[in-house]
Amino acid sequence: MENIQRTEVGTLGEFGLINHLTKHNEIKNSSTLVQVGDDAAILEYPNNQIAVTTDLLVEGIHFDLMYTPLKHLGYKSVIVNLSDVYAMNATPQQITMSIAFSNRFSVEALSEFYDGVYAACKKYHVDLIGGDTTSSQKGFIISVTAIGEVPQGKYVKRSGAKSGDLICVSGDLGAAFLGLTLLEREKKVFLETKGVQPDLEDQNYIVGRILKPEARKDIVAFFAAENILPTAMIDISDGLSSDLLHICKQSKKGCVLYEEKIPVNENARQFAYKLELDPTACALSGGEDYELLFTIDEKDIEKIKSNADITVIGYITGEEDGKKIITRGGNKHDLIAQGWNPIQAEKN
Ligand code: ADP
Ligand code: MG
Repeated sequence: MENIQRTEVGTLGEFGLINHLTKHNEIKNSSTLVQVGDDAAILEYPNNQIAVTTDLLVEGIHFDLMYTPLKHLGYKSVIVNLSDVYAMNATPQQITMSIAFSNRFSVEALSEFYDGVYAACKKYHVDLIGGDTTSSQKGFIISVTAIGEVPQGKYVKRSGAKSGDLICVSGDLGAAFLGLTLLEREKKVFLETKGVQPDLEDQNYIVGRILKPEARKDIVAFFAAENILPTAMIDISDGLSSDLLHICKQSKKGCVLYEEKIPVNENARQFAYKLELDPTACALSGGEDYELLFTIDEKDIEKIKSNADITVIGYITGEEDGKKIITRGGNKHDLIAQGWNPIQAEKN
């Protein structure tokens, strides 16, 4: 975080800072009529429906600046919101970004954060249309709101799963949790033995999954191209078990999940073994993968098979059948929510 140059925010003032952070803002979508710089933004979606979502990220609760570069944090704070928009089968178009920070943060540090914000906006073709800027007594607080569009009636809720539907997931699970575990371990070593440099053991994949996640824009585009409308969908932020249970609860259904089908990246699996952790437990209870978990009608199975990045991991049953996981050994257990909750994790 140490920059060679350090400009106090006070030298620019609030309006100077906002101008500094937003002067190169580029608008990409025709739905953005009025952007940063007025009392409110103006948007126009003549035909489509609108998805709106917001998230609040607090230093020390949701992120740790000891191992999170500010640019990555800016990127990730946008991504987690875009992921929620995609989880409605909508396409994000605009974000607002509100920040509160103490005088520990310089203009250079905040600019670095915004470099990450703009990188995400560019990659996902999203416009920054406003925000708010204020001070905090301690630490950094980030609030992002994302707005997206979806063709009439094509939005997907958590509540539409039917008995017999297939449960599918994009990408792989558990790696972000393992990356976080590695970063926390190295932080501890660093604090206990001052000067020892972190040993990330070339674990680029799992560290990347926690520090620089991506949202599954490609999966929503695939649904549109293949004319697939999932019956229910959620993004995996708390862990597979907790998020699948949300779908079951809101759809008033049960499920059968096959442990052997749960996709885990090979590097992540090896690292879990090294720490004597169960890779399945990491996938079920570790969070922050930002993959899409969705259910589809059985008739769409052939279409889904054409996408190598989607795995069928189980099926939906009646509510009376319960929520079950079948282990590799063939045993049936109740699926329990052990979603990873940073506040709980801190207490432990
Ligand atoms: P107001 O006093 O009406 O709240 P502000 O001075 O806070 O206005 O903001 C001026 C303009 O700059 C508005 O368009 C607002 O949305 C935008 N803005 C403020 N802070 C940020 C920020 N951190 N990032 C992006 N846009 C911002
Ligand atoms: Mg304001």
